Parts: sequence; C-alpha cells; structure tokens
Amino acid sequence: MSNRREIVQGGLLTLIFGFGPICACNAQSRREPHAYGCVLSAKDADQYMDDNTDTRLYITGNEPMIPRSGDRSFDLALARTLAAVSETLKVLPSFAYYDDYDGLNAYATPKVRLVNADGTVLFGQRLLSRLMSGKESPEVAVAAVCAHEFGHILQFKRGLDKVVGAGQRTVKRVELQADFFAGYFAGVRKLQRPNFPAAVFAMTQYHFGDNMVNDPGHHGTPEERGAAISKGFEIAYREKRSLSEAIQAANNFALSL
Ligand SMILES: [Zn+2]
Repeated sequence: MSNRREIVQGGLLTLIFGFGPICACNAQSRREPHAYGCVLSAKDADQYMDDNTDTRLYITGNEPMIPRSGDRSFDLALARTLAAVSETLKVLPSFAYYDDYDGLNAYATPKVRLVNADGTVLFGQRLLSRLMSGKESPEVAVAAVCAHEFGHILQFKRGLDKVVGAGQRTVKRVELQADFFAGYFAGVRKLQRPNFPAAVFAMTQYHFGDNMVNDPGHHGTPEERGAAISKGFEIAYREKRSLSEAIQAANNFALSL
C-alpha cells in the first residue's frame, strides 16, 4: 500500500530544486554569538535588525506585505499565508526581513517588537531570493520556511522547546518539532484548499536537512526533516486533530527521536 509518506518522499527524489547549497558567506563579518539552529535569544536578535526595521503583523492577510520580493501577487499570497499560519498555530509573531549576508537563513526569536506579538520571525532577504528562484511553487517553499519559524514561536509560547530540548547535545528535536508544526499547517491548509501543494513543504525542509549529526546545530537529516513534515501533515489531514492534540503528538514525536 502506498501511503502519503511514500508519495511525498518519492516526490523528493524526483523533483529538482532550483537552488543550491545554503551557505553564502562573504567578506562581511559574521555576527556573534552565532545561534544554533534558527532560534535567536532576545538579546542576540538585536544584531539582526535595528529599531527602524520594517516589522508587521499579519492578522487578516489583507495587510500590505513588506515589499521585498518585487512581485506584488507573491507579496499578497505570502501575507495571506502568514495570516493562515498564525490562525492555525494560534500564534501572532511580527515578521521582518533582514540582511542574511553571513549565511542564508531565517530565524525565530521571543523578542517582541510590536505590542501583543508573540515574538518575531526574521526572514533573510537572500534566502527569499534563493527560494523565489526555485522552479517548484517557490511561494509555497517560502511559506514552508515561515511555517517552520512560526512553529518555533509556538514552542516559545507554550514552553515546548524547553521540554523537548532538555539535555540534548543538538537542536535536532526542537527543529524537527518545528517541522512537525509546519507539516500540521500544511495539512490544515490542504483540507481548506485541496489543490494546496503540501508536498512542497516536505521537499523544502528535506533540502535544508544536514548530515552533521554531532554538530550542536544539527537540524535533522534530509530524510528526518521530510518525515517530520509528513507526520505533522498526517495529524491534520488524515486524523483531523485539533491544535492541542497536535501539540501532544508533536511532543511525543520529538521525545521519541
Ligand atoms: Zn528552526
């Protein structure tokens, strides 16, 4: 029997990405202390944006997107997707772009820049450009990264990162749980919109997997990242679980790794 996971992972092997390795260091100095994973402490977040950085909340999806993509329909679609992620995971982070000159990346931080926000998601402008050059639903690949970061915001809000990350030598459990939540969003979105290309979420996170299993910043192998998305997807799409049930499942999943 061919299950969803096999289908998704089969797709991973056959589809070709339009972007290469994620490492784009240049002559500018790297920021320190360098974060492990894509979680920044409130203190470290100050290195990534100044007080004038344009920061928005996306509540209804009709708010104007920060114009960084050069594509208005993309900006609108992303604003709507961010609002949908916010609704599904019941978190309301503010969102900003930053210059990721020292390595393509996106971050989540508990630092609050706007009143009533649940922390902040920072998206690298160079990562945005790289993802948008992809051939396979680039706007959905951007949404996948955003949903992963919103997953971290959910962890901060509920203290989940402390539970699943306790005593770990790497950030893998925390990162794969964020992937699980991104997959959960993809499943909810596909129930709402049957033509939503949810497999792009698994493919995107598969691509960002790494094999540095002993590195403190290890996020999970490509296979583990794709599988974490698939597990979260199943909880929403097949099992139609509530968010609180999904959080319990995500904790069990992460603690079993
Ligand atoms: Zn992460």
